[in-house]
Amino acid sequence: MEIQISLGASLFFIVLYFVVKTAVRNGVVEAHNSMDGGDDEDEDSIAMTTCPNCGRCHDIDYPKCPRCGHS
Ligand SMILES: [Zn+2]
Repeated sequence: MEIQISLGASLFFIVLYFVVKTAVRNGVVEAHNSMDGGDDEDEDSIAMTTCPNCGRCHDIDYPKCPRCGHS
């Protein structure tokens, strides 16, 4: 009787261990993906243009080139 209870408890904890481990691993992967996605989104959200005068890439929102002042 005690052996059966002990065996059942061991199996329960083994299953619980794998469930928790899988959940933690998925959570870490999701957090990592969301972090990468955020970085990509930031890069994509900034529209860049190249200055025709000096060739420097700068934010398209700048009315003038921050390097040479070409507008
Ligand atoms: Zn320029």
